[in-house]
Amino acid sequence: MARRNFNPRFDTVRPAGIAYCENPHDVSECLNFVRRFGLPVTPRCGGHSYTGASLVPGLVIDVSPMSAIRADAPSETATIGAGARLIDVYDKLSAADVSIPAGSCPTVGISGLTLGGGIGVVSRAHGVLSDNLRAIELVTADGRKLTCDAKNNSDLFWACRGGGGATFGVVTSFTFATHPTSEIVVFFLNWPWSAARSAIDAWQHSREPEYAASQIFTRPMDGTAIDTILAAVQRRGGLSGGGQGGIALDALGGAVNRVAPDATALVHRNGLFNAQITTTWTTDAPTDAIRAQQNWLRSLHAAMKPSASGQAYQNYADAGLTDWKQAYFGANYPRLLTVKNRYDPDRVFRIPQTVGTATK
Ligand SMILES: Cc1cc2nc3c(=O)[nH]c(=O)nc-3n(C[C@H](O)[C@H](O)[C@H](O)COP(=O)(O)OP(=O)(O)OC[C@H]3O[C@@H](n4cnc5c(N)ncnc54)[C@H](O)[C@@H]3O)c2cc1C
Repeated sequence: MARRNFNPRFDTVRPAGIAYCENPHDVSECLNFVRRFGLPVTPRCGGHSYTGASLVPGLVIDVSPMSAIRADAPSETATIGAGARLIDVYDKLSAADVSIPAGSCPTVGISGLTLGGGIGVVSRAHGVLSDNLRAIELVTADGRKLTCDAKNNSDLFWACRGGGGATFGVVTSFTFATHPTSEIVVFFLNWPWSAARSAIDAWQHSREPEYAASQIFTRPMDGTAIDTILAAVQRRGGLSGGGQGGIALDALGGAVNRVAPDATALVHRNGLFNAQITTTWTTDAPTDAIRAQQNWLRSLHAAMKPSASGQAYQNYADAGLTDWKQAYFGANYPRLLTVKNRYDPDRVFRIPQTVGTATK
């Protein structure tokens, strides 16, 4: 059980060990150990990485015991242990009538979410989660404990706001600015399938006035692209293998785009929305059914390419991307590489698709 992540696709990865770290000193000891024996290493928080990046055949540094959550009213901040999950973050902070603009899945971990940016339903009002970060505590690959904020180790602080997990060190705690919350109304709107085309079109244009005010917005999809999505969703319904598939559209813009693309490592500051294509299957699905679902996903991805910007959100990691450096990090990649070379020159952290790795 201990090696199981959210996605059963990675159940076959067998770590040599999983170290449950209770404090930064434990993390430091783990890193000293893996450096001594040249073992692969990766941190783990909520275990929701799409590419299984928090599991390696070497040592997994599990930060989940560090999960204390403390709101501080005078400074309007909250300090959250790197192992906390969103359900507990929202729960604890709501007792103090505050919150942070995190994601929507209760079991996602605060670490992976923040380090890759963090998109949620209130991003347009408060920015991505990492825009709300005020400080982090981190253990570097060589075992040093550092505080990073706007004044101290500011290059690392910049890189940890969108540069991705398992890249510059192991974070042990985050301090965020908090936002007051009052009553929240949660609602779902449903349309008949026959109205799906106009619903998507109206949804994207409903934000047009705000976006249209700026030159940096990416264009809304045209009718042909919307039809492509709808046809693909219908096609997905006919595939075998169980599970479900579809495309989720997360609104961007607003406060997300009021931050300059080089102000933090998160470069995506001109998006109108983020489209996430997913497909799932049951554990007993035959190989050809799984392959057909994956082909479905790739063909929809390819069909949407002409309408899309070429950027991809690093927290929705896609192992099939060959141009991931550009897609995830764009013009910020060279600066991220400089930070990587400074804090992890020996590539102790070297999982695929992270800054400084040459592999896919
Ligand atoms: C069901 C589901 C819902 C999601 N919903 C959203 C959403 O609403 N918004 C959104 O933006 N994203 C969402 N995501 C994507 C999510 O943000 C990423 O998958 C994220 O990386 C998960 O973080 P984690 O800590 O749970 O995962 P993990 O697999 O534990 O970690 C992810 C990465 O961060 C590294 N890491 C973990 N802990 C640390 C640490 N302490 N220090 C340094 N590196 C660390 C890991 O090694 C790995 O590379 C969702 C994903 C899933 C599966």
